[in-house]
Amino acid sequence: MHIAIVIHDRCQFKKCNYECRTYCPPVRMGTETVVITESGYPKIIEELCEGCGICVHKCPFEAVKIIGLPEELNEDLIHQYGENGFRLYRLPRVHKDRVVGILGPNGIGKSTALKILSGNLVPNLGRYSENVTWDDVISYFAGTEMADYFSKLRDGELKTVMKPQYVDKIPMVFKGRVSELLKKSDLNGNLDEIASLLSIENTLNRDIDKISGGELQSVAIAAALLKDGDVYFFDEPSSYLDIYQRLRVARVIKDLASKKIVFVVEHDLAIMDFIADVVHIMYGSESAYGIVANVRNTRNAINTYLEGYLRDENIRFRDWKIEFVAHPPKRKSELPVLISWDFVEKKYENFHLEVNPGEIRVGEVVGVVGPNATGKTTFVKILAGVVKSDRGGVDNEIKVSYKPQYIKSDYDGTVEELLNFTLKDRMLNNFYRAEVLHPLRIKYLYNKDVNNLSGGEMQRLAIAIALGLEADLYLLDEPSAYLDSNERMVAAKVIRRYMENLGKSAMIVDHDVYFMDIVADSIMVFSGEPGRHGVGNGPFSMREGMNMFLKNVDITFRRDGDTNRPRINKPDSYNDREQKNKGEYYYA
Ligand code: ADP
Ligand code: ADP
Ligand code: MG
Ligand code: MG
Repeated sequence: MHIAIVIHDRCQFKKCNYECRTYCPPVRMGTETVVITESGYPKIIEELCEGCGICVHKCPFEAVKIIGLPEELNEDLIHQYGENGFRLYRLPRVHKDRVVGILGPNGIGKSTALKILSGNLVPNLGRYSENVTWDDVISYFAGTEMADYFSKLRDGELKTVMKPQYVDKIPMVFKGRVSELLKKSDLNGNLDEIASLLSIENTLNRDIDKISGGELQSVAIAAALLKDGDVYFFDEPSSYLDIYQRLRVARVIKDLASKKIVFVVEHDLAIMDFIADVVHIMYGSESAYGIVANVRNTRNAINTYLEGYLRDENIRFRDWKIEFVAHPPKRKSELPVLISWDFVEKKYENFHLEVNPGEIRVGEVVGVVGPNATGKTTFVKILAGVVKSDRGGVDNEIKVSYKPQYIKSDYDGTVEELLNFTLKDRMLNNFYRAEVLHPLRIKYLYNKDVNNLSGGEMQRLAIAIALGLEADLYLLDEPSAYLDSNERMVAAKVIRRYMENLGKSAMIVDHDVYFMDIVADSIMVFSGEPGRHGVGNGPFSMREGMNMFLKNVDITFRRDGDTNRPRINKPDSYNDREQKNKGEYYYA
């Protein structure tokens, strides 16, 4: 069975000569395999397509995918977004008293699966031009637990609650104070309790369009928790949150599962590991199709994911293993100092930042961790020369390349044009191409307009550009934001290898512990009172810094026996208590 996908986000029929049609062998022989629709988009008639894949290679915009799939998969088609549209095969199963995690790359159908399970989208079973009803869906699943689930959903016996993925859209549909928004959901008078659980008491009186991304996320989660449902869906709950908040949310969601059915989509693997009892991995081809794999226990699912190979399904999605080391890296204390700073101070109207003296060595990657609104970005901006400190600063004129936390671009052109314009000769450098552009899959973005990139695509591009510029120090503020788990691990490794090979230094702010573990040689720790006062310390050795940082967060990690990856200990478990006694929060 061949499926043919035309990705409308990529297809730019006004700028091409319909190569997909012109070069199609059956079309040349007179069979109308590819037709041009009224909208201008080409339509590939799957029954006539021979699967040669010539259109895939001829399309200048990487907008066509022809994929051979096993015939039997056809019976498992749950939803298809129109002819030549994305297809979802199979669904995650419903487990009572368990948090079900869904793990997979961007564009693989995770949100679509949640929309179906939550009753927000009636799956069309592939019959996209028909009016498929819940009754059809229930008879499709006849004899399985899913039929029972969807019947209850249809009959209103199950109430579902969704924390949507895109919290930044909330201010567009709701104006007014946070407390007003939350009161609408608060049928049982739990607002005070939930607000305190998520530490948003001080956000309640603010206007929804004036709060930060992290606050929006917490508010969206609070709104979900206040609602009285039977089944809860949390689509990417950790975005914009710092690690304190991620853990707080993870604990609340875990508690919820003792009484409710809970599904979570999450890209932070340490959090997924902690939150989920079982995990469905999803695989397939971005924007083309996604398959929900059989459920695995969480440990096994994440180890499998890191290995890059789904044994049961015989699918390889990365050609190398992601590995962790159980021991802290050696501090590069023999290396010369690149820059150092004396006491640095910066005051804003409501915020006071103090950073104690520190230094960065040549070839060192310094991680930066700490709660939101403690001045990490401000400090990076001071190093980048974007913000002037009130007192203190770096001793030495060096060249920096800076990727801001919030990336925007008003560049009017394609990714390829932007890259050539910004990086010039660097684009021809073999090392850069092989070690940065290739692993970050930038080639697939070349023909896209910069303005149309998704969050994850923009992040990959911004990282590639920052690394492409000539500098002594690379400053990357929250590079894992919007990336899926796989992209995060790849990006961490790209950054690390790049610095190692070129003998350059970097400072990386991030909240994802796995990302930090892979990327950093040493670590700076920020703390204080968020929004009021921040204190930066370090860089420390990884052991010292992680102990300091995790002590603040009150969590300990053990190591997985097979992969050495860090795993959050259950609070108050034997390991947790033992490690806290010893003061070893991370390298036990
Ligand atoms: P994920 O949550 O895994 O990133 P989604 O479920 O959001 O993935 O989307 C999977 C694919 O389905 C994407 O390629 C997306 O473009 C496509 N898609 C999502 N919603 C629609 C829609 N309403 N119409 C057409 N295509 C859609
Ligand atoms: P982090 O990166 O740790 O989240 P930031 O450095 O972005 O923290 O911000 C620290 C605090 O400084 C926040 O409370 C923020 O609102 C405040 N702040 C940042 N930039 C400015 C500015 N230009 N004017 C006033 N306050 C600012
Ligand atoms: Mg999604
Ligand atoms: Mg920041």
